[in-house]
Amino acid sequence: MVVIDSIANGIVIDHIRAGYGMKVLEYLNIDTDSNTVALIMNAVSEKHGRKDVVKLENVTDLDLTALGLVDHNATVNVIEDHIIVRKIKLSLPEKVTNVFRCKNPRCVTSAESGIPHIFHLADAEAEEYRCEYCDEIVKAEDL
Ligand SMILES: [Zn+2]
Repeated sequence: MVVIDSIANGIVIDHIRAGYGMKVLEYLNIDTDSNTVALIMNAVSEKHGRKDVVKLENVTDLDLTALGLVDHNATVNVIEDHIIVRKIKLSLPEKVTNVFRCKNPRCVTSAESGIPHIFHLADAEAEEYRCEYCDEIVKAEDL
């Protein structure tokens, strides 16, 4: 991992909840060996107290569904030639497949392998997801 101050082209994920930067990198599946990645932890944010920031040099494609799950309050800035050309607002995805595992031992996904673990957004406020098969509830923060 190389620390960089500013990037010419790539993506900056700003306003990540403090302590979640590593999780963001993990869930985005960013290859930290071949990409230049900067993780800034516990930066002072005027709006939210403390925050993490992730900078990805030369990355243009992101799994926004995964990112929305980890921290939907983060902001995504797309940088071209040192200038922010696009800001992307995140939201909790309506449907997620194979991200959560159902904890209900009687659920069909626990009994049989090879069945996709599908969850639907049940309560955006509480960040709760419901298993497609057995209605078991999971919280996004338990990721
Ligand atoms: Zn289930």
